[in-house]
This record gives sequence, structure tokens and C-alpha cells, in this order.
Amino acid sequence: MSASAAASPVAGFAPRAERLAALERSHFDVLVVGGGITGAAAARDAASRGLSVALVEKEDWAAGTSSRSSKLVHGGLRYLASGDLGLVFESLSERARLLRNAPHLVSPLEFLFAILRGRWVSPAALSAGLTLYDFLALRRGRRHRRLSASGLVGQEPLLSGADLAGGALYADASTDDARLTLENVLDAGDLGAIAVSRLTLESRVRAPSGAAVGAALRDVETGRVLEVRARVTIDATGPWSDRLRAQEDPSAAPRLRLSKGVHITVPAAALPVRRAVAIPVERGRLLFAIPSGPVTLIGTTDTDYGGPADGVAPDAEDVAYLLSRAQEVFPHSAPRAGDVVAAFAGLRPLRFEPGREVSRTSREEAIETTPGAVSVTGGKLTTHRRMGERAVDAAAALLREAGIRAGRSRTVDRPFPGAPAEPLPVFTERFLDEALRVGVTPATARHLAHRYGRRARAVVALAAAEPSLWMPIVPGLPDPEAEILFAARVEDARAASDVLIRRTHLFWQTPGQAVSALPRVCELLGKELAWTPQAKERSREEYMREVERSASAVAPLLED
Ligand code: FAD
Repeated sequence: MSASAAASPVAGFAPRAERLAALERSHFDVLVVGGGITGAAAARDAASRGLSVALVEKEDWAAGTSSRSSKLVHGGLRYLASGDLGLVFESLSERARLLRNAPHLVSPLEFLFAILRGRWVSPAALSAGLTLYDFLALRRGRRHRRLSASGLVGQEPLLSGADLAGGALYADASTDDARLTLENVLDAGDLGAIAVSRLTLESRVRAPSGAAVGAALRDVETGRVLEVRARVTIDATGPWSDRLRAQEDPSAAPRLRLSKGVHITVPAAALPVRRAVAIPVERGRLLFAIPSGPVTLIGTTDTDYGGPADGVAPDAEDVAYLLSRAQEVFPHSAPRAGDVVAAFAGLRPLRFEPGREVSRTSREEAIETTPGAVSVTGGKLTTHRRMGERAVDAAAALLREAGIRAGRSRTVDRPFPGAPAEPLPVFTERFLDEALRVGVTPATARHLAHRYGRRARAVVALAAAEPSLWMPIVPGLPDPEAEILFAARVEDARAASDVLIRRTHLFWQTPGQAVSALPRVCELLGKELAWTPQAKERSREEYMREVERSASAVAPLLED
């Protein structure tokens, strides 16, 4: 039995109770703990090799760092400066694969790289770096074009007034991080994995030899503890992995250095950049301003973080930092605190390298093997497929000792579940024709094609029986109410936050953070998931806590 009902583009998760029963019944080759991009990729890779796989996540898919990134699929220009050519080459190769295998989720994005006078990077060094970047990309994508200060302002008039030295235009790509994670989970399900969210690993089950042979998992929804048997456990809990290690051995030395990265969004009208802009504002740190539908995404900070990974939140200092840097770069048109729609924070699970500045800490992954277990941390969203593959290579070595042979990884050329069979523009035009015929507006049809790829047809089919579901969740935005039901029925959404933050992105795309839509979201989810009034209230309160985390980082700046 798989997480998905069948391997078709409309397949989704089987009912949770069925998946839980399958978890308890089976003896898995591999249990992956952590449903961020790394765990999801490892589960997909292991399932593609014909292994029996379970994947568990303590909250929602991508609820950790994997929905709080800058949403770029990139080579990582700044890693050239630290000489990480291998990482850049691998990232650019993975970028090319993702553009091919997930064209609905990963889109080419042209960046304007601008240099302020006297800021660590010279235009000549940038141009040399970009020549190398183009070379490492094996000439896939447009080659960079060097620009003078006035050329930069010609491309982006909002830079006028900044103390510019010069810059360049270059090609990279952007994605929807939470959905990229979700499609990895969906595909793992299509390949036979059992994936269940809201299950927390409490402890490992060990053989007398000390080898891990499974895990005790607590069902967050019911409090019940169940045991899952697995020959190898892959720990992909990212920023939480030190906590897991300390749970088992309180004297274990930390392996990770957590760095907090904060983004804010402002309405596109408050900072209407024509294209993505990247500017070095500190040594090793870029400020990004990225157009993202109705908002502009501004990031990011990079500061040491010593608090608990649960509930990491932005604070006023983070927001003030981003606004002041934006002021330097866009002197006549910088957004103000009152413009901020949302602020959110994620944690980079970096390797602990004593004595290094946080911005210079390696972004490469670390894989560690112990009896019956593999731990994988670090890395990037962009390189998730390779990380998953390498973690499963390590698991396969352990399985071999137990006499089990894994096949070879089949993820290199495997399309993601929503990837259309035809080129994306051809699919989009065809889908638009079909959708307009059944009364969907062009804006919503385009939005669905981009978000779901060929799975968009299933959203349309779902609303066919109930045309009122074409009402927008938030007036003026293209996300229809049909997406709420689709999220619950097909995409394993089990709370208002799952729908408003990760399946749609209205949390950070809507002034007021979609709070006015919350009653309707809870009403539709409540019906679909048979919630009690208390469950509905819990979901409402949980979403409001997320809104409060964001609002309280901005509020002190409004008082100034
Ligand atoms: P996570 O996404 O945090 O997943 C770990 C999961 O484990 C969580 O969902 C958590 O709930 C779960 N978990 C924890 N404990 C347990 C338990 N006991 N039981 C069950 N589940 C558990 N990379 C790029 O390529 N491009 C970018 O633009 C980019 N921008 C970034 C910007 C910021 C601000 C940050 C912080 C990172 C950025 N990255 C980017 C890096 C990238 O986002 C991360 O490397 C990646 O998301 C990490 O994924 P992960 O799966 O390892 O961790």
C-alpha cells in the first residue's frame, strides 16, 4: 500500500488511519524521520530503488526550514568566493535537472546583481565570478551580461540614488519550497512509501547490540505511541537533529550551528522591483528583493541562534535590519515597517565549525553512519535530490550488511508528479482553454497551472460539482476555495496553517495575513476532516499564533 491511492497525477494521500495501520503492520527497509526537503528527498530516492520506506514528520510537510527559505534554486554565487566550486557545480547541475523534472515548480529567474561602491566585491571580480558560474553551468541558461551603474538603473529604476559601482544580469531559478517538498513526498508515495505527518519520533528502538531497529512514534493528533520496525533509520530532522542526539545521549557534543534567517514580505506596490535584485550588503551576505506574485520578498538575515528549534520567530531587530538595508539599496522607494505584510524565520542547520563566522560556515551536507542509522544534515534546497541519494547510498551500505540489496537511484530523470508531459507553455495554453470553458477566470487558471502543473486538472474536477468553490479565498487573489478542499482531500493538509501557509501562501502574500479568510478555511476543513468544535478552535488558535509571531516582530517598529 502506498501513501498515494494510485500512481496518477491526481493521486494523493490515502486516509491517515490506513497509513498508520500500514506503518505498524510492516517491517520497513528504511524509516525516514523528518518531512522537510531532505527527508522527503531521501524517502523518494529510497522508494525509487525498490526499498520499502516509511516517512514521518512531527508537524506538517515542510513545516520547518523547508518552507522558510529564499525559494531559490541556485548555484550559490557567493560560494564561488569561498572556493566551493564543487558545491556550485553540483548545485547548477541540480538546477538544470529541476528545471526539466519540475518545470511547474522551478522557473528560470533573471537576477540583477548590483554592487554598492566600496562593498567587498568589485564589478571586475563579479564578472570573473559570473564567467566561471556560466562555465560551471555548462552554458545551460543565459550567459551573464555586465552592467555599468547607469545600466543597472536602466534595468531597475528603483536603484536610482544608490551609490552603485556596477553589476550584472545573470540567470538562476526560483521555486515554491513547500510545494517542492510536498511533491517529493507525493512522489515517494507514488513509488510505494508510506508517509504520515504529525508523528513525532520519541525514541529509537534498539537491539541488544545497540543498533537502531525502529522507533517509537507519538501520534500528535491522539497522543498514542506506536512502534515502527525498520532495518535502517535515516535522521533528516535538520535543525532538530542535535536535540534528537541529546535525547539519547545528554553528553553528546553539538554537531550543528544553527543560523536564523529572516524574510519579510511587502506588497509589490510598496517595492515594485521589475526583476529579482541581489546586492552584497555585508561580507558574505546578500540582500535579495524578489518579486513573488502580489508581494516582494526581502531577505535575509544570517545570525547565530541558540534557542529551541520549535517556534523560531523573527524579532524587531531582524525586521529593522532588513528595512534599513533596503533603504540603502532603494533610497527613494524603500518600504517602511507599516508596509510589512509578514515576517518569517527559518534555521539553517549548518555544520559546527568552531572559530568560523556564521556567514562563512560550510553549506555542504554532513552524512554520518552509526549501527542501523544514518544522519543527514546541512545542504541546500537546491541540492536536495543529491543529498537524498547520498543518504540512501549510506543506508544501502548498512542494508547490504543485512543481506538486502537496494536497486540504483532512479530520481535523476524522474519527473515530479505535477510535471506536464508536454512543454510547460504548451500545457498551460491547453489547460487554459479547458479551464476557461468551464468558467474558471484566466488569472485563476494560470495560477493553478503554475502551482499544480498537470495536477491542476484535478482541482478543476473537484470544483465541477460545486461551482461556489471558485470563490477566491481572499478577494483579489487568484487562489480559489477549491484549493482548500484539494489540500485536505489530496494533499494531506490537516490544519488551517497547512492550507494558509504551505499549500497556499496567503499567510505571507496577503495584507492582514488572510485572517479574514480563517473562519471560511476552518469551516471547509472542519467539514472535510469531521472536526469537533474544539478541533476547529484549536486550528484557528494555532494559525493566530503564527500570525502573532509575525506581527509582534513588526509592532515595535510601528511605535517608533
Ligand atoms: P527542515 O526543513 O527543517 O526539516 C526537518 C523536519 O524534521 C522538520 O519538518 C521537523 O518538523 C521534522 N522533525 C524534527 N524533529 C522530529 C521528530 N522528533 N520526529 C519527526 N519529525 C521531526 N536553500 C536553497 O537551495 N535555496 C535558497 O534560496 C535557500 N534559502 C534559505 C534561506 C533561509 C533563511 C534558510 C534558513 C535556508 C535557506 N536554504 C536555501 C537552505 C534550505 O532551506 C535548507 O537547507 C533546507 O530547507 C533544510 O531542509 P531539511 O529537510 O534538512 O530541514
